[in-house]
Amino acid sequence: MAEAIEVLNISEGELGFSDEIMKLGAEELLDCIQCAKCAAACPMVLAGFEFFNKRIIQSILIGQKEILLDDSSIWACQACNRCTEVCPRKVEPFGVVMAMRRSAIREFALPTLAVEGLKSLYDVGHAVYFSNAGEIRKKIGLPEKPPTTASNAQALKELRILMNKSALSSLGIIPMDSGLSDVTCCEV
Ligand code: SF4
Ligand code: SF4
Repeated sequence: MAEAIEVLNISEGELGFSDEIMKLGAEELLDCIQCAKCAAACPMVLAGFEFFNKRIIQSILIGQKEILLDDSSIWACQACNRCTEVCPRKVEPFGVVMAMRRSAIREFALPTLAVEGLKSLYDVGHAVYFSNAGEIRKKIGLPEKPPTTASNAQALKELRILMNKSALSSLGIIPMDSGLSDVTCCEV
């Protein structure tokens, strides 16, 4: 039996949604010609996500804000930037996905895993960090902590300053009052 075709009523789209996304960093959004070159390069397509770069852009252009916020596809972007390399119109599809994430954060439309990752980023400097991996690392001759933000107190402090200046603290994802919000990186 043939699959039912979903018909969208574009007059129900949210007016001004594309303007919001452009203001959040996707300045070249309207230059997209839906050629799908970005989709051909996107790992999200191979992984079977319903929305991927080209479809995210299409949905933004017709104002499907609620549909995009209800779907977790935007959090599956691997930040590989292949789409940006191949786009013939310099739309920077990766940047569009990031702007869409900013919109989702403002609406608190984050999957639980993303919230946990942000908390972990604030606490230890890594979105994914196995605190009990230290012993195993030592056994194979590695330092207990990787030579990244996790073992660099200054870098972690600066990262927290940046995160405190974002919307994350007002949303309650990270501590609201760390005493760092009025500090610039140079003063630390
Ligand atoms: S973002 Fe660029 S590559 Fe992707 S569909 Fe639009 S014009 Fe084509
Ligand atoms: S940056 Fe994101 S949207 Fe672009 S190709 Fe990679 S996974 Fe897809």
